[in-house]
Amino acid sequence: MSRESALGPGREFDLVRTLIARWGDTAFGIGDDAAILDVPPGQRVVASTDSAVDGVHFRRDWLTPREIGWRAAAAALSDLAAMAARPLAMLVSLLVPPAWLGEVTGIADGLGDAARATGARIVGGDLSAARERAMTLTVLGAAATPVLRSGARPHDLLYVTGRLGGPLAALRAWQRGDAPSPDARERFAHPVPRIQEALWLAARGAHAAIDVSDGLLSDAAHLAAASGAHLELSLDQLPTLAGLAPDEAARSGEEYELLVAAARPLDTAAFARQFAIPLTGIGRVASGPAGVDATLHGARVAPGGGFDHFS
Ligand SMILES: [Mg+2]
Repeated sequence: MSRESALGPGREFDLVRTLIARWGDTAFGIGDDAAILDVPPGQRVVASTDSAVDGVHFRRDWLTPREIGWRAAAAALSDLAAMAARPLAMLVSLLVPPAWLGEVTGIADGLGDAARATGARIVGGDLSAARERAMTLTVLGAAATPVLRSGARPHDLLYVTGRLGGPLAALRAWQRGDAPSPDARERFAHPVPRIQEALWLAARGAHAAIDVSDGLLSDAAHLAAASGAHLELSLDQLPTLAGLAPDEAARSGEEYELLVAAARPLDTAAFARQFAIPLTGIGRVASGPAGVDATLHGARVAPGGGFDHFS
C-alpha cells in the first residue's frame, strides 16, 4: 500500500493534503475508502474512540492548538495503555467551523506529535464543516493478552504510576484567573499515555488496569465494580504535584496515569529507573463487597468524584 494514495481536486482535499504533509511518515495509506491494517500474528485488535468538544473538553484560551491536539490524542491513546495494547493506528475526524480553519494545522500537529510519540500511524479520518469545533479520535492497538478492568482478585497489590494532581491544580488556577505553575500546566497540556509503562507492567504480572481519567478514587471504583473486588487504598504515599494534598490529587481527573493490580509485588525501583516516574504501592484488594475504602493518615477519605471541568 502506498503511503498516500492520490486524492482528487477540491478545497477539502487541499486541506487533507496539507494535514498529510504535516504528519509526514506518521500518515499512512490515507486516501482509499478505508484503511487496511496488519495485526501481528497471535494478537487481537483493541479499539477505542474519544471525542473532544470545544467548551466541554477543551478551552481555546487555556491551550495552544497544538496542545489541544496533543491532549485529545493522548486521552484516546491512554485507553490503549490501560489495556496494555501497543498502538497501531489512529483515525481522525474533525468538525471544522470556518473560524477554526486557521488553527486546524496546529491541532493536526499536536495529533501527529502524540501519534508519533506512541508509534500509532494516522491511517484515515474525516473532515466536515460544522458549527461547533470538535474532533473524534479512534485508536486501534494490538495485544496478545489485553489487560482488563475486571482482573483484580483478593490479595492483589495496587499500584499507581506518576505524580497526581497537576491537571486539577492547573484548572483551579485558570478558574481563579491565575496562571498555573509550570509543572501543573505541563501535566494538563501534555499528558503522556503510559504505553511503554503499561507493557512493562503487564509483562511483570499486572493483570488488571485502568487509566486515571475521572480521578484516582473514581477510577478505583470502576476497577472495583468491574472486578467485583474490594479495594483498600492508602493515600499516605501518593506522590502529588503542585502542593496538592493526596486526597485532593486522588480526585484530579484527566491524569492518564495507570492504576494496576498485580498478584505479586512489582519492582517499583526498576520501574522508576526505566521510566523516570514513580510507581507507588497504594493498597491491596481485600475480601469484601465490591467498592473502595480509602484512607489518609488513618482517616477515611470520602469516595468520590472526578472533577467536572465546567460545572
Ligand atoms: Mg479509560
